Amino acid sequence: MASIFTRIINGEIPCYKIAEDDRFFAFLDINPVSKGHCLVIPKQETDYLFDLDPALLGSLMQFAQKIAKALKQAEDCKRIGITVMGLEVPHAHIHLIPMNSEADIDFHKPKLQLTQEEFTAMAASITQNLLL
Ligand code: AMP
Repeated sequence: MASIFTRIINGEIPCYKIAEDDRFFAFLDINPVSKGHCLVIPKQETDYLFDLDPALLGSLMQFAQKIAKALKQAEDCKRIGITVMGLEVPHAHIHLIPMNSEADIDFHKPKLQLTQEEFTAMAASITQNLLL
């Protein structure tokens, strides 16, 4: 059965999309730990990030770099943090998280509750800063 992220890529499940190309896809995390928290994924469905072909993993990081730069411009923050977990969704993904302090990247704290309008506006402002 297709992963939830494959179903997002295929348009079967809605998302707040930021960007895609032929191999990668970026969208907002629906349970953000900080404003602008997004996920970058390969379209190829592989559970564990470090099982990806090394060249594909390198290209995924290059794609994530472009998203991170746009994200940093869209969200006024010190840095974009990066986290890899994959305990919930078995489709390799990288979390990109705007941060001003360690607390902004704490997955134990309650997630932000944002409206549809806030998610939509955030995705649009990241996309606007993209130089793909
Ligand atoms: P993990 O697999 O532990 O790295 O966590 C998976 C992440 O995917 C979590 O932060 C979820 O909030 C996020 N997530 C799960 N389903 C969706 C979805 N339909 N749209 C956006 N983000 C999602």
